[in-house]
Amino acid sequence: MNAEIVAIGSELLTPFRQDTNSLFLTQRLNELGVEVIFKTIVGDRPAHLLQAARVALSRAQIVIFSGGLGPTEDDLTRECVAEALGVELRRDHEMVTALYTRAAALRMRMAENNIKQADYIVGAELLKNPRGSAPGQWLDTTYDGLRKIVILLPGPPFEMEGMFNDHCCDRLKLVLPEVRLATCELKIAMVGESTADMRAAKIYKQFADVETTILAKAGEVQFHLTAHGATQEEAEEKIERVASLLEDEFADEMFSAGGESLEQIVGYFLQMRGATLAVAESCTGGLLAERITRVGGSSRYFMGGALVYSDALKREFCGVPPLLLASDGAVSRPVAAALAEGIRQRCKTTLGVGITGVAGPTGGTDHKPVGLVYIALADGKHTEVVERVFPGDRERIRWYASQLALDLLRRKLR
Ligand code: AMP
Ligand code: MG
Repeated sequence: MNAEIVAIGSELLTPFRQDTNSLFLTQRLNELGVEVIFKTIVGDRPAHLLQAARVALSRAQIVIFSGGLGPTEDDLTRECVAEALGVELRRDHEMVTALYTRAAALRMRMAENNIKQADYIVGAELLKNPRGSAPGQWLDTTYDGLRKIVILLPGPPFEMEGMFNDHCCDRLKLVLPEVRLATCELKIAMVGESTADMRAAKIYKQFADVETTILAKAGEVQFHLTAHGATQEEAEEKIERVASLLEDEFADEMFSAGGESLEQIVGYFLQMRGATLAVAESCTGGLLAERITRVGGSSRYFMGGALVYSDALKREFCGVPPLLLASDGAVSRPVAAALAEGIRQRCKTTLGVGITGVAGPTGGTDHKPVGLVYIALADGKHTEVVERVFPGDRERIRWYASQLALDLLRRKLR
Protein backbone atom coordinates (compact mmCIF):
# COMPACT_ATOMS: atom_id res chain seq x y z
CA MET A 1 0.00 0.00 0.00
CA ASN A 2 1.03 3.62 -0.40
CA ALA A 3 0.54 6.75 1.64
CA GLU A 4 0.48 10.51 1.52
CA ILE A 5 1.32 12.69 4.50
CA VAL A 6 -0.31 16.10 4.76
CA ALA A 7 1.41 18.40 7.26
CA ILE A 8 -0.86 21.26 8.26
CA GLY A 9 0.22 24.58 9.74
CA SER A 10 1.01 28.01 8.31
CA GLU A 11 4.18 28.10 10.43
CA LEU A 12 5.51 25.18 8.33
CA LEU A 13 5.53 27.46 5.30
CA THR A 14 7.85 29.98 6.98
CA PRO A 15 11.65 29.78 7.28
CA PHE A 16 11.29 29.29 11.06
CA ARG A 17 9.61 25.89 11.43
CA GLN A 18 10.20 22.70 9.53
CA ASP A 19 7.87 19.76 9.04
CA THR A 20 9.59 16.97 10.94
CA ASN A 21 6.46 14.93 11.64
CA SER A 22 6.54 13.47 8.14
CA LEU A 23 10.07 12.15 8.70
CA PHE A 24 8.95 10.16 11.73
CA LEU A 25 5.81 8.97 9.96
CA THR A 26 7.73 7.95 6.83
CA GLN A 27 10.12 5.87 8.87
CA ARG A 28 7.29 4.09 10.68
CA LEU A 29 5.30 3.55 7.49
CA ASN A 30 8.35 2.15 5.70
CA GLU A 31 8.87 -0.27 8.57
CA LEU A 32 5.31 -1.45 7.98
CA GLY A 33 6.05 -1.92 4.28
CA VAL A 34 4.12 1.21 3.20
CA GLU A 35 5.70 3.51 0.64
CA VAL A 36 5.18 7.25 1.02
CA ILE A 37 4.41 8.57 -2.47
CA PHE A 38 3.61 12.21 -1.70
CA LYS A 39 4.10 14.74 1.09
CA THR A 40 2.13 17.96 1.16
CA ILE A 41 2.61 20.96 3.41
CA VAL A 42 -0.34 23.31 3.62
CA GLY A 43 -1.16 26.41 5.69
CA ASP A 44 -4.16 26.93 7.95
CA ARG A 45 -6.52 28.12 5.22
CA PRO A 46 -9.74 26.18 4.69
CA ALA A 47 -9.78 26.41 0.89
CA HIS A 48 -6.19 25.19 0.60
CA LEU A 49 -6.66 22.52 3.21
CA LEU A 50 -9.76 21.22 1.44
CA GLN A 51 -7.91 21.12 -1.86
CA ALA A 52 -4.94 19.32 -0.33
CA ALA A 53 -7.25 16.79 1.33
CA ARG A 54 -9.10 16.07 -1.93
CA VAL A 55 -5.88 15.62 -3.90
CA ALA A 56 -4.37 13.35 -1.26
CA LEU A 57 -7.53 11.24 -1.00
CA SER A 58 -7.65 10.83 -4.75
CA ARG A 59 -4.08 9.56 -5.15
CA ALA A 60 -3.01 7.67 -2.01
CA GLN A 61 -4.47 4.69 -0.17
CA ILE A 62 -3.47 5.88 3.28
CA VAL A 63 -3.68 9.60 4.07
CA ILE A 64 -2.23 10.92 7.29
CA PHE A 65 -2.96 14.50 8.35
CA SER A 66 -0.89 16.07 11.11
CA GLY A 67 -1.69 19.35 12.83
CA GLY A 68 -4.67 21.65 13.03
CA LEU A 69 -6.57 19.59 15.59
CA GLY A 70 -6.34 22.12 18.41
CA PRO A 71 -9.10 24.33 19.79
CA THR A 72 -8.30 27.62 18.04
CA GLU A 73 -9.89 29.35 15.04
CA ASP A 74 -7.16 28.25 12.67
CA ASP A 75 -7.42 24.57 13.62
CA LEU A 76 -9.57 23.35 10.74
CA THR A 77 -8.38 19.87 9.88
CA ARG A 78 -11.48 18.09 11.20
CA GLU A 79 -13.86 20.36 9.29
CA CYS A 80 -11.95 20.26 6.02
CA VAL A 81 -11.33 16.50 5.95
CA ALA A 82 -15.02 15.89 6.74
CA GLU A 83 -15.99 18.18 3.89
CA ALA A 84 -13.57 16.51 1.48
CA LEU A 85 -15.08 13.13 2.38
CA GLY A 86 -18.60 14.56 2.14
CA VAL A 87 -19.60 13.58 5.67
CA GLU A 88 -20.70 15.45 8.78
CA LEU A 89 -18.98 16.12 12.07
CA ARG A 90 -20.60 14.86 15.25
CA ARG A 91 -19.84 15.64 18.87
CA ASP A 92 -18.65 12.85 21.15
CA HIS A 93 -20.11 13.50 24.58
CA GLU A 94 -17.74 11.22 26.40
CA MET A 95 -14.89 13.24 24.91
CA VAL A 96 -16.56 16.50 26.02
CA THR A 97 -16.58 15.16 29.59
CA ALA A 98 -12.97 14.03 29.22
CA LEU A 99 -11.93 17.53 28.06
CA TYR A 100 -13.65 19.13 31.09
CA THR A 101 -12.09 16.56 33.41
CA ARG A 102 -8.63 17.18 31.95
CA ALA A 103 -8.99 20.96 32.39
CA ALA A 104 -10.15 20.50 35.99
CA ALA A 105 -7.21 18.19 36.74
CA LEU A 106 -4.88 20.93 35.47
CA ARG A 107 -6.77 23.46 37.68
CA MET A 108 -7.87 25.35 34.56
CA ARG A 109 -11.23 26.56 33.35
CA MET A 110 -11.88 25.18 29.91
CA ALA A 111 -12.57 27.79 27.29
CA GLU A 112 -15.74 27.25 25.27
CA ASN A 113 -13.90 26.80 21.97
CA ASN A 114 -12.07 23.71 23.34
CA ILE A 115 -15.25 21.68 22.94
CA LYS A 116 -14.77 21.39 19.20
CA GLN A 117 -11.92 18.99 19.88
CA ALA A 118 -14.64 16.45 20.73
CA ASP A 119 -16.01 16.59 17.18
CA TYR A 120 -15.41 13.53 15.07
CA ILE A 121 -15.87 12.79 11.39
CA VAL A 122 -18.85 10.42 11.08
CA GLY A 123 -17.46 6.91 10.83
CA ALA A 124 -14.20 7.78 12.63
CA GLU A 125 -12.85 6.39 15.86
CA LEU A 126 -11.42 8.97 18.26
CA LEU A 127 -7.86 8.24 19.38
CA LYS A 128 -7.04 9.19 22.97
CA ASN A 129 -4.25 11.68 23.56
CA PRO A 130 -2.82 11.37 27.06
CA ARG A 131 -0.03 13.81 26.13
CA GLY A 132 -2.30 16.72 25.17
CA SER A 133 -5.90 17.71 24.71
CA ALA A 134 -6.71 17.12 21.03
CA PRO A 135 -7.70 13.53 20.26
CA GLY A 136 -6.78 12.01 16.92
CA GLN A 137 -9.07 10.17 14.52
CA TRP A 138 -8.93 6.90 12.59
CA LEU A 139 -11.20 6.33 9.65
CA ASP A 140 -11.52 3.26 7.41
CA THR A 141 -13.65 4.65 4.60
CA THR A 142 -14.04 5.09 0.85
CA TYR A 143 -13.38 7.97 -1.52
CA ASP A 144 -14.55 7.81 -5.12
CA GLY A 145 -15.44 4.19 -4.51
CA LEU A 146 -11.95 3.19 -3.32
CA ARG A 147 -10.96 2.14 0.18
CA LYS A 148 -9.00 4.75 2.12
CA ILE A 149 -7.43 4.77 5.54
CA VAL A 150 -7.57 8.32 6.88
CA ILE A 151 -5.69 9.29 10.03
CA LEU A 152 -5.78 12.65 11.82
CA LEU A 153 -2.95 13.29 14.28
CA PRO A 154 -2.09 16.32 16.46
CA GLY A 155 0.77 18.60 15.36
CA PRO A 156 3.11 18.67 18.38
CA PRO A 157 5.72 15.98 17.56
CA PHE A 158 5.64 14.43 21.03
CA GLU A 159 1.84 13.99 20.91
CA MET A 160 1.86 12.86 17.28
CA GLU A 161 4.56 10.23 17.81
CA GLY A 162 2.94 8.84 20.94
CA MET A 163 -0.44 8.61 19.27
CA PHE A 164 0.93 6.92 16.17
CA ASN A 165 2.82 4.35 18.23
CA ASP A 166 -0.05 3.72 20.66
CA HIS A 167 -3.02 3.67 18.31
CA CYS A 168 -2.06 3.53 14.65
CA CYS A 169 0.71 0.90 14.25
CA ASP A 170 -1.45 -2.03 15.37
CA ARG A 171 -4.50 -0.79 13.46
CA LEU A 172 -2.41 -0.46 10.31
CA LYS A 173 -0.93 -3.93 10.71
CA LEU A 174 -4.47 -5.33 10.68
CA VAL A 175 -5.31 -3.72 7.34
CA LEU A 176 -1.93 -4.18 5.64
CA PRO A 177 -0.84 -7.30 3.81
CA GLU A 178 1.93 -9.13 5.64
CA VAL A 179 5.28 -7.95 4.29
CA ARG A 180 8.65 -8.32 5.85
CA LEU A 181 11.22 -5.63 5.52
CA ALA A 182 15.00 -5.72 5.89
CA THR A 183 17.24 -2.67 5.92
CA CYS A 184 20.96 -2.08 6.07
CA GLU A 185 23.10 1.04 6.32
CA LEU A 186 26.61 0.94 4.86
CA LYS A 187 28.99 3.85 5.42
CA ILE A 188 32.18 4.74 3.59
CA ALA A 189 34.70 7.46 4.39
CA MET A 190 36.57 9.95 2.24
CA VAL A 191 35.15 8.98 -1.15
CA GLY A 192 33.32 11.64 -3.18
CA GLU A 193 29.60 11.14 -3.76
CA SER A 194 29.80 10.84 -7.54
CA THR A 195 32.73 8.41 -7.41
CA ALA A 196 30.96 6.36 -4.76
CA ASP A 197 27.76 6.27 -6.79
CA MET A 198 29.58 5.31 -9.97
CA ARG A 199 31.29 2.40 -8.25
CA ALA A 200 28.13 1.34 -6.40
CA ALA A 201 25.66 1.72 -9.28
CA LYS A 202 27.16 -1.12 -11.28
CA ILE A 203 26.29 -3.35 -8.33
CA TYR A 204 22.91 -2.13 -7.11
CA LYS A 205 21.53 -1.65 -10.62
CA GLN A 206 21.63 -5.44 -11.03
CA PHE A 207 19.18 -5.91 -8.16
CA ALA A 208 15.83 -4.33 -8.87
CA ASP A 209 14.29 -5.86 -5.74
CA VAL A 210 16.58 -3.91 -3.42
CA GLU A 211 16.03 -0.19 -3.08
CA THR A 212 19.28 1.76 -2.66
CA THR A 213 19.34 5.34 -1.42
CA ILE A 214 22.58 7.32 -1.30
CA LEU A 215 23.14 10.01 1.31
CA ALA A 216 26.29 12.11 1.32
CA LYS A 217 27.89 14.57 3.68
CA ALA A 218 31.44 15.94 3.81
CA GLY A 219 33.81 12.97 3.78
CA GLU A 220 31.10 10.33 4.18
CA VAL A 221 28.70 8.49 1.89
CA GLN A 222 25.95 6.23 3.17
CA PHE A 223 24.10 3.53 1.24
CA HIS A 224 20.69 2.73 2.68
CA LEU A 225 19.39 -0.60 1.41
CA THR A 226 15.79 -1.74 1.77
CA ALA A 227 14.17 -4.96 0.61
CA HIS A 228 10.79 -6.60 1.09
CA GLY A 229 10.02 -10.28 1.23
CA ALA A 230 7.25 -12.71 2.07
CA THR A 231 9.41 -13.80 5.02
CA GLN A 232 12.05 -12.01 7.04
CA GLU A 233 14.73 -14.42 5.77
CA GLU A 234 13.84 -13.69 2.17
CA ALA A 235 14.10 -9.93 2.74
CA GLU A 236 17.43 -10.34 4.59
CA GLU A 237 18.84 -12.54 1.82
CA LYS A 238 18.04 -9.92 -0.81
CA ILE A 239 19.84 -7.27 1.24
CA GLU A 240 22.79 -9.52 1.96
CA ARG A 241 23.45 -10.13 -1.73
CA VAL A 242 23.84 -6.40 -2.44
CA ALA A 243 25.54 -5.55 0.86
CA SER A 244 28.28 -8.16 0.45
CA LEU A 245 29.10 -6.99 -3.08
CA LEU A 246 29.26 -3.38 -1.89
CA GLU A 247 31.46 -4.45 1.01
CA ASP A 248 33.88 -6.06 -1.47
CA GLU A 249 33.85 -3.05 -3.78
CA PHE A 250 34.57 -0.65 -0.91
CA ALA A 251 36.68 -3.04 1.18
CA ASP A 252 39.19 -0.29 1.87
CA GLU A 253 36.81 2.60 2.55
CA MET A 254 33.81 1.00 4.25
CA PHE A 255 33.84 1.53 7.99
CA SER A 256 30.41 0.47 9.14
CA ALA A 257 27.56 -1.82 8.19
CA GLY A 258 25.62 -1.39 11.40
CA GLY A 259 24.92 2.32 11.65
CA GLU A 260 27.99 3.21 13.75
CA SER A 261 29.71 6.56 13.32
CA LEU A 262 33.35 6.81 12.29
CA GLU A 263 34.31 8.01 15.78
CA GLN A 264 32.59 4.96 17.29
CA ILE A 265 34.49 2.63 14.98
CA VAL A 266 37.82 4.30 15.80
CA GLY A 267 37.01 3.99 19.50
CA TYR A 268 36.15 0.35 19.06
CA PHE A 269 39.47 -0.36 17.28
CA LEU A 270 41.53 1.58 19.85
CA GLN A 271 39.95 -0.40 22.65
CA MET A 272 40.37 -3.69 20.84
CA ARG A 273 44.09 -3.02 20.40
CA GLY A 274 44.54 -1.68 23.90
CA ALA A 275 45.89 1.54 22.39
CA THR A 276 45.57 5.09 23.70
CA LEU A 277 45.34 8.36 21.81
CA ALA A 278 46.14 12.06 22.22
CA VAL A 279 45.58 14.84 19.69
CA ALA A 280 47.13 18.25 18.96
CA GLU A 281 44.78 20.40 16.91
CA SER A 282 45.28 23.73 15.27
CA CYS A 283 42.82 24.52 12.45
CA THR A 284 40.13 22.13 13.71
CA GLY A 285 40.00 23.95 17.06
CA GLY A 286 39.12 20.86 19.08
CA LEU A 287 36.61 19.38 16.65
CA LEU A 288 38.48 16.09 16.47
CA ALA A 289 38.59 15.77 20.27
CA GLU A 290 34.93 16.76 20.43
CA ARG A 291 33.96 14.02 17.99
CA ILE A 292 36.07 11.37 19.72
CA THR A 293 34.57 12.23 23.11
CA ARG A 294 30.99 12.09 21.78
CA VAL A 295 31.35 8.35 22.19
CA GLY A 296 30.44 7.06 25.64
CA GLY A 297 33.36 5.25 27.28
CA SER A 298 35.97 7.16 25.25
CA SER A 299 37.93 7.83 28.44
CA ARG A 300 39.18 4.25 28.18
CA TYR A 301 41.33 5.11 25.15
CA PHE A 302 41.33 8.89 24.69
CA MET A 303 43.71 10.72 27.04
CA GLY A 304 43.14 14.28 25.76
CA GLY A 305 45.45 16.66 24.00
CA ALA A 306 46.07 20.30 23.22
CA LEU A 307 44.44 23.00 21.21
CA VAL A 308 47.54 24.73 19.84
CA TYR A 309 46.39 27.61 17.69
CA SER A 310 49.40 29.86 18.18
CA ASP A 311 53.01 29.06 17.28
CA ALA A 312 53.96 29.68 20.90
CA LEU A 313 51.66 26.91 22.15
CA LYS A 314 52.76 24.58 19.37
CA ARG A 315 56.29 24.97 20.78
CA GLU A 316 55.34 24.92 24.41
CA PHE A 317 52.78 22.08 24.52
CA CYS A 318 54.04 19.87 21.71
CA GLY A 319 57.74 20.72 21.58
CA VAL A 320 57.63 21.81 17.94
CA PRO A 321 61.16 23.18 17.24
CA PRO A 322 61.12 26.99 16.75
CA LEU A 323 63.45 26.62 13.76
CA LEU A 324 60.93 24.36 12.04
CA LEU A 325 58.13 26.85 12.55
CA ALA A 326 60.37 29.59 11.16
CA SER A 327 61.61 27.65 8.15
CA ASP A 328 58.51 25.73 7.04
CA GLY A 329 55.68 27.70 8.64
CA ALA A 330 52.96 26.44 10.96
CA VAL A 331 51.00 24.88 8.11
CA SER A 332 53.52 22.34 6.86
CA ARG A 333 54.27 18.65 6.70
CA PRO A 334 57.11 18.67 9.32
CA VAL A 335 55.10 20.77 11.79
CA ALA A 336 52.13 18.37 11.54
CA ALA A 337 54.53 15.48 12.20
CA ALA A 338 56.11 17.30 15.15
CA LEU A 339 52.67 18.03 16.62
CA ALA A 340 51.65 14.37 16.40
CA GLU A 341 54.84 12.96 17.89
CA GLY A 342 55.09 15.82 20.40
CA ILE A 343 51.63 15.33 21.84
CA ARG A 344 52.11 11.56 21.87
CA GLN A 345 55.23 11.88 24.03
CA ARG A 346 53.76 14.61 26.22
CA CYS A 347 50.60 12.56 26.94
CA LYS A 348 52.45 9.19 26.99
CA THR A 349 49.98 7.57 24.60
CA THR A 350 50.33 4.85 21.96
CA LEU A 351 49.25 7.18 19.17
CA GLY A 352 49.33 10.92 18.53
CA VAL A 353 47.50 12.96 15.89
CA GLY A 354 48.56 16.43 14.72
CA ILE A 355 46.41 18.69 12.53
CA THR A 356 47.45 21.99 11.02
CA GLY A 357 45.92 23.84 8.08
CA VAL A 358 44.35 26.93 6.54
CA ALA A 359 40.61 26.84 7.31
CA GLY A 360 39.96 30.22 5.66
CA PRO A 361 38.23 32.29 4.48
CA THR A 362 41.34 34.48 4.86
CA GLY A 363 44.99 33.53 5.31
CA GLY A 364 45.45 31.59 2.07
CA THR A 365 48.38 32.19 -0.29
CA ASP A 366 49.32 30.82 -3.72
CA HIS A 367 51.67 28.43 -2.04
CA LYS A 368 49.35 27.56 0.86
CA PRO A 369 45.74 27.98 -0.30
CA VAL A 370 42.61 27.96 1.84
CA GLY A 371 41.71 24.33 2.49
CA LEU A 372 45.32 23.08 2.69
CA VAL A 373 45.55 20.72 5.65
CA TYR A 374 48.29 18.45 6.97
CA ILE A 375 47.29 15.58 9.21
CA ALA A 376 49.90 13.44 10.94
CA LEU A 377 49.61 10.18 12.83
CA ALA A 378 52.54 9.11 15.03
CA ASP A 379 53.11 5.79 16.78
CA GLY A 380 56.61 6.41 18.13
CA LYS A 381 58.38 4.46 15.40
CA HIS A 382 56.87 6.03 12.36
CA THR A 383 54.96 9.23 11.61
CA GLU A 384 52.66 9.30 8.63
CA VAL A 385 51.64 12.70 7.20
CA VAL A 386 48.85 13.31 4.71
CA GLU A 387 48.52 16.52 2.71
CA ARG A 388 45.16 17.52 1.24
CA VAL A 389 43.38 20.60 -0.08
CA PHE A 390 39.72 20.40 0.97
CA PRO A 391 37.01 22.32 -0.87
CA GLY A 392 34.26 24.40 0.71
CA ASP A 393 33.87 26.95 3.47
CA ARG A 394 35.57 27.08 6.86
CA GLU A 395 33.13 24.72 8.53
CA ARG A 396 33.37 22.15 5.75
CA ILE A 397 37.18 22.26 5.65
CA ARG A 398 37.36 21.72 9.41
CA TRP A 399 34.89 18.85 9.20
CA TYR A 400 36.82 17.19 6.35
CA ALA A 401 40.05 17.47 8.36
CA SER A 402 38.51 15.78 11.40
CA GLN A 403 37.00 13.11 9.15
CA LEU A 404 40.31 12.35 7.44
CA ALA A 405 42.10 12.21 10.81
CA LEU A 406 39.57 9.65 12.06
CA ASP A 407 39.89 7.69 8.84
CA LEU A 408 43.69 7.60 9.15
CA LEU A 409 43.27 6.19 12.64
CA ARG A 410 40.77 3.60 11.39
CA ARG A 411 43.10 2.45 8.62
CA LYS A 412 46.04 2.18 10.99
CA LEU A 413 44.15 0.23 13.62
CA ARG A 414 41.91 -2.12 11.63
P1 AMP B 1 -1.15 22.17 15.85
O1 AMP B 1 -1.60 20.79 16.17
O2 AMP B 1 -1.39 22.54 14.43
O3 AMP B 1 -1.75 23.15 16.80
O4 AMP B 1 0.42 22.22 16.03
C1 AMP B 1 1.01 22.57 17.26
C2 AMP B 1 2.52 22.73 17.14
O5 AMP B 1 3.10 21.53 16.70
C3 AMP B 1 2.95 23.79 16.15
O6 AMP B 1 3.18 25.02 16.75
C4 AMP B 1 4.24 23.26 15.59
O7 AMP B 1 5.36 23.84 16.22
C5 AMP B 1 4.20 21.78 15.85
N1 AMP B 1 4.00 21.11 14.59
C6 AMP B 1 2.86 21.05 13.87
N2 AMP B 1 3.00 20.35 12.75
C7 AMP B 1 4.30 19.95 12.73
C8 AMP B 1 5.09 19.18 11.80
N3 AMP B 1 4.57 18.67 10.68
N4 AMP B 1 6.39 18.97 12.10
C9 AMP B 1 6.92 19.47 13.24
N5 AMP B 1 6.22 20.19 14.15
C10 AMP B 1 4.93 20.44 13.90
MG1 MG C 1 -1.38 24.55 13.79
